[in-house]
Amino acid sequence: MDVSEGIKTDVKTANGMMVPGTFRVIAGPCTVESYEQFEAGATAVKRAGFEYIRGGAFKPRTSPYSFQGLGEEGLRIMSEVAGPLGLKVVTEVMDPYDIELVMEHARVLQIGARNMANFSLLKRVGAAIAGTDHGVVLKRGLSATVEEWLLAAEYVTASGGDNVVLCERGIRTFETSTRFTLDLSAVIVAKRLTDLPVIVDPSHAAGRRDLVVPLSKAAVAAEADGLMVESHHDPREALCDGEQALPAETLLGLKGALQPFASAMSREVI
Ligand code: PEP
Ligand code: MN
Repeated sequence: MDVSEGIKTDVKTANGMMVPGTFRVIAGPCTVESYEQFEAGATAVKRAGFEYIRGGAFKPRTSPYSFQGLGEEGLRIMSEVAGPLGLKVVTEVMDPYDIELVMEHARVLQIGARNMANFSLLKRVGAAIAGTDHGVVLKRGLSATVEEWLLAAEYVTASGGDNVVLCERGIRTFETSTRFTLDLSAVIVAKRLTDLPVIVDPSHAAGRRDLVVPLSKAAVAAEADGLMVESHHDPREALCDGEQALPAETLLGLKGALQPFASAMSREVI
């Protein structure tokens, strides 16, 4: 049996975020900390040859005492910095109340793992992006089955939302050497069950930067359609998730590191 049987490799989104024959990389800091920090991060993403930048303005932190993000100011910083560089912004929306505001500043709305089953948020985001060029990255919940994840995506599409991309970001297991466990089987299973593109977030899955590039290569081989990775110009000073952030020099080499694997899969890293 052909192991790739049933896997769709020509997935695309109408807004051009996912292009057949390519492997899309979204990179950027966990959180927007300041104009200068995001500008340094965005410059590195641009120099690394990528078109989509991530950054959090509304952060779903486990502890209420951790930095919660800059909110609207963070959104403004992202659009001000990304626009002139020709980068498209991907950022999380946590509250239905903020959807329109986030759409003013970002091309792609991320629904985080902790909100995957927030059905009213899913429905409202789906209705809000219907007929627009905006897209959604839907993270898999920390303990969600593939079926639950796909049904969550259907909440968005059934509400009219197009351009939905699934993102595997690691699940909770007994393993403690990594922050979560990257479930690459789920990528393959999801791609057999749906036409939606599936990308991988190795940063939150591993929680440690030394695993991010090897897991990214594995994601290419597992037929993922792209990646979301965290990077920071000075990871030691990052206000959030510094341990898993790629420094600029690694980010600059990421495209070259992945392209041989992507070429083997007949894809171009973009
Ligand atoms: C993030 O991407 O910033 C994030 C918080 O991810 P997750 O929802 O997967 O934990
Ligand atoms: Mn993070």
